[in-house]
Amino acid sequence: MDKNNLTRERVLVTGGSGFIGSHLCDALVRRDKSVLSMDNGISGQMKNLSQLLSHRNFEHIQHDLTLPFEIDANEVYNLACPASPKHYQKDAIATVRTNVLGTLNLLENSKRQLGCKTLQASTSEIYGDPEIHPQTEDYKGNVDPTGPRACYDEGKRCAETLFFDYHRSFEIEIKVARIFNTYGPRMRLDDGRVVSNFIRQALDGQDIQVYGNGQQTRSFCHVDDLVEGLISLMDAPSHVIGPINLGRPIEFTILELADIILTKISGPSKIVFAPLPEDDPKQRKPDITRAKEYLGWEPEIALEDGLEDTIAYFKSEYFK
Ligand code: NAD
Ligand code: UDP
Repeated sequence: MDKNNLTRERVLVTGGSGFIGSHLCDALVRRDKSVLSMDNGISGQMKNLSQLLSHRNFEHIQHDLTLPFEIDANEVYNLACPASPKHYQKDAIATVRTNVLGTLNLLENSKRQLGCKTLQASTSEIYGDPEIHPQTEDYKGNVDPTGPRACYDEGKRCAETLFFDYHRSFEIEIKVARIFNTYGPRMRLDDGRVVSNFIRQALDGQDIQVYGNGQQTRSFCHVDDLVEGLISLMDAPSHVIGPINLGRPIEFTILELADIILTKISGPSKIVFAPLPEDDPKQRKPDITRAKEYLGWEPEIALEDGLEDTIAYFKSEYFK
């Protein structure tokens, strides 16, 4: 075992047992980094890390980001926070606490160390229900600060503020990624977001529940593409701090997504309509000019292709 190999670059990933975090840990270990995952388990799943637990360059600790900590690392990726509305609204105050208090603890830990690069997994929710389309990073957003999504949206906005204030005040090297809707294997079966719900409903032969009239749009990015984007941002020169949109700039209506999933999973399911949740954004599509220019990054995996391994994962979880 080589758990404390100090010659290797050490990377801390908060939210490491989550959907994106676990794929990021895989990719970093493949790049020969020494990875420490930190998670409180609120929406993560330890099975996401089972392939890494015996790896000599990987460690996982159970820790809540809202409690102070001291961990030396060359790079820190802050992914801790439930991402699905169902999960982040379950305990809205904990969501705010993680984004504000947790981010403060994270940045205090980075401040102690010279040259610790720190990346924030921010979100397209910064833009709220956007009035400009596609969304560029200089758009200031249209967020309802009192609505049911505010714990996440405003929490993430405050986290960005903290990142930029720590950068200005203490010259911490920061990176801020604004991630758009991401899907792929290891999403929880009870994740509650649209891709996982539709796949589950189709596998169950139940009707596909489209909220509202289904004309609202989202732009879906496969997790493998997203992880490449996050690492490219971390590796970018120090002046590239963001915010930078990471997403696939191809828009689908929710009805179109339902049709694609129904063609891939044949069965008795048909589309039915259910009420639109409060505060639901009407459209979302990233402008990724900055990501292309500064990172040389753009997603490669089409939705129709990326859904293949996602559906295969759900089938394997379902029928085991
Ligand atoms: P996820 O819920 O699967 O993962 C989040 C992880 O953070 C979980 O393992 C959870 O247990 C952990 N966590 C939550 N609060 C914590 C705390 N206080 N201390 C320690 N760990 C804590 O979500 P995900 O989809 O993997 O998202 C990862 C990050 O990316 C989140 O910060 C999310 O806001 C951001 N993001 C995701 C998407 C997306 O489409 N998945 C889009 C935009 C932004
Ligand atoms: N949605 C839906 N049926 C579902 C889950 C979600 O029609 O079972 C819709 C939801 O109203 C929203 C879109 O799909 O317009 C994306 O929702 P999701 O929760 O996946 O992500 P977010 O709203 O955070 O982008």
